[in-house]
Order: sequence, then C-alpha cells, then structure tokens
Amino acid sequence: MIIHYPGYYKKFRCLAGECPDTCCIGWEITVDRETEKTYQKLRKGKSELAERLRRSVRRRLIIPDGDRCPFLAGDGLCDLCREYGEAAMTRTCRRYPRHVEDFGDIHEVELLCSCPEAARLILSEDFRLITRNMSERKGNTDGIDEERLALWFSVREQVFAMAGDRRMPLWARMRRILAFCHDVQGRLKREDTAGVEALVERAKETACRRNGADPVPDLIDGDKTGDHLQTKEERMTERNVPGRLKEADHREKDWKKTNDVYTPGKADMHNLEERFSLMADFFAEFASLSPIGHGFPELLERSRTFLYHSEDSRSLYEKRQQEFHRNVPEAEICTERLLFYFLYSFVMPGFYDGDLYTKAKMAVFGAVAAEELEMAEYFRDPGKYGKRTGDGRGNDAESVTSLENDEMVTERSAKERISALPHTAYLFARQIENSAENRDLLEQLLKQPEFGIRRIIETKSWF
Ligand code: SF4
Repeated sequence: MIIHYPGYYKKFRCLAGECPDTCCIGWEITVDRETEKTYQKLRKGKSELAERLRRSVRRRLIIPDGDRCPFLAGDGLCDLCREYGEAAMTRTCRRYPRHVEDFGDIHEVELLCSCPEAARLILSEDFRLITRNMSERKGNTDGIDEERLALWFSVREQVFAMAGDRRMPLWARMRRILAFCHDVQGRLKREDTAGVEALVERAKETACRRNGADPVPDLIDGDKTGDHLQTKEERMTERNVPGRLKEADHREKDWKKTNDVYTPGKADMHNLEERFSLMADFFAEFASLSPIGHGFPELLERSRTFLYHSEDSRSLYEKRQQEFHRNVPEAEICTERLLFYFLYSFVMPGFYDGDLYTKAKMAVFGAVAAEELEMAEYFRDPGKYGKRTGDGRGNDAESVTSLENDEMVTERSAKERISALPHTAYLFARQIENSAENRDLLEQLLKQPEFGIRRIIETKSWF
C-alpha cells in the first residue's frame, strides 16, 4: 500500500484543554460498531457517566445537547476519554483532525484545517507531499479502475505544479488551474484519455511560457463544465480579437525581457472591481449554509458588511487590498499554502464522482474566501497583526531586523502576523469540513452560472 501525507502531518499534537475551540461543537457524531460494543458494556455501570451514555447515545448516534456533545466538559476535554481512556471515544473523535481518503491501494492522509492547531501547521510551512510504500499492507482495489486513477493522479500532479510555480503571481496560477481543470473535465466526460494526457503534457511544456495570464486558449466553453464544446473555428475567432492579441504581445515582451521570471504587464493587473463583485456574490450564497461551531456567523456578517455592503466599500476595496498585502506580506504565502491544502483535500475525491472542475473551484474559492475574511479582520484589529505604523515602530519594542518599504520590521511583528492568520482559515474550513450537507451545497453553488468559467477567467485577472 502507498500512503501519501503532507510534510506537516506528523507534527500534529492535540492542544486538548489549551485549545481555543472545541472540535466537536456542531458535529453530528456517529458511533462506529467497535465503539458501540464498548458503550454497551459501559452503559451497564451505575456511574453518572453510564447514565449519560444510556440517555445520550441512540441508534449509534450521539445526541447533542444543543450544539455541544453531552460528554464535552467545561474545560474542553472529553469526559469519556478522561474516565475510560481513548478507547471509549468514537473513531471519528479519536482520529480527528486526521482524515483518510481511500483510493484502493493508495491512501491519502491529511490533517483537517477545521482544527485550529492543524490550521496553524498547514499555514506554517510549504506543502510537501510525502509518499511511503508499505509493502506489508494491501488496500482493497475492488472496483477501482487503476488506469483511470493513474490519470487522475497525473492531472493532480500537474495542478500542484501550477499552484507552486512562483514565477507567476498567485492569482495567475489560480486562473491557470481553473482553466486547465475545466479543459480536462470536458475530456474526462468524453472518456478521452488520450486528450487528457495530451493536455497534461502540453501544460508541462508550456509551464510559465504562457505567463500564466492567458490560460484561455484551451478553454472549451462557459458555464456548463464542458457540456457544450466549441468548435475549433469558434475558439479561433474568439481568440483573434485585436484586443487580446495586443495583450498577448505585451505579455510576450515581458516574458522575453525577464527570461525566467514572470512579470505582470499592465494588461494583467488585478481587475479588483470584478473580484469585488464575484466575492460579494460568493459570500451572499455562502451565508445561507448552516453555520458550524461558534464565531463564524459573526465573522461572516461583519466581513461582508465591511468589505462589500457599506458606503465606499466598492471604491475602497482596491486600496484595502493593497494596504492589507503591504502590512501583512505573509498573507499571500498563507493563501498559497491554503490553496495547496484545499487542492489536496478536494481534487482526488473527484475521482469517485468524476467532477474535477468543481473540486478545483472549491479549492480556489476556499483559499480566496479565507484570505478575504482575513483582510476584513485585519482592518477590524490591525494591532493583532503586529501592524507597523508610519514611523515603523508599530507596537513592537524589540530590535529591528529589516527595513521594508521604509518601515521597520521586527521578528515579533512577523510572528504576530503569521499567528493571526490561521484563525479565519479554520473557522471557514469548519463550515465545509464538519458538515457533509454544507460541502454538497457549496459544490452545487459553484456549479451555478454566476460562478461559471467565463466570469472567472475571461475577466482578465480577478485574483
Ligand atoms: S480542535 Fe484540534 S487541537 Fe482542538 S481539541 Fe480538537 S483536535 Fe485538539
């Protein structure tokens, strides 16, 4: 059996009583068969805990007390674990935040970002995929089409390569991933294996040559995820509009000039107006999901009001983006790490339902949405992020380690900024990871025409 896991996986240690949150709040916990046998024995006891087990576990489900697990003590620890040890916890509780996706003889293991400590690890280092070959174990390969699985892994590998190509700005990489997955989706749907392989090869060859800012040429069609295929002639006509040729020429010049590193030209500058509308629409829909755990509805409401729905929101959006990224330079790298995390979580499970493109969208929107929420939080409390003031001293009293844009940066301010970032990431991830219903709804939402490929990609650069 082959096991895949991210580099940070083994560093995880549960914070237990020190945890700023509680993982099981809002969860519906199923009792696995093995633990149910343990509970049957424990229920016979005379203790108060045995009585609670009789009352609160029915039909292999733990009945929550409001949104709390009835065994969750005030100090954030589990009474069952404290009294009887880990064996008395359900498999879900024992494993959380560890999660396994099974692909026959390949198992992919991860830490769920909905746990604050896992979120901290996910954002604290670049994503590395580690592979272990455990020849003594064999996975169940019944019903697995190994060739198709290998094809999916090769597509995912290419998606990772695109995500990690730092010669391009992150937004250009995201657009490129979406365009690539959109195109692959059309071929998957037609069961055109050779077509998928050709796209992967072409993407490898053209890595960065196209500067990441023009992923459209392969685009099949708009909002139907490859349902409707354009003819080659239609695509050529669409591509040969004079404005686009001019932009392409412009980028080509940039590319030659820098030779190796992508430099965005004027035509590639952020179209933040478009991002503003797209993300406002996204969050308006996201607000209809059932909130999981504490803190998220308030975070979402105040962020939406501040970023999109108050006076001057639209006109200040670009300025706020710039200020946030200038003062929290670590945010972009954290968004990249989160993008990797979501790609790792979502893309391969698409193997089972065949929907690569929507899974890629979930990953990209997830990373951008968490960054957007983070930006709103920054403006609410810049001090939490070790904000640097005009004279450069910020709220730090320690020695200066570097000078950046005429502002003094201290080690503590950088650490403060990084330590503030996982908070919104884990609250956001919790909404989709701890509720299968929300995850399904998000998937449906991203299939809607307003989140179609045309709007995302053809409007120059919205990331
Ligand atoms: S959320 Fe994570 S760190 Fe906190 S108690 Fe649960 S597993 Fe431990």
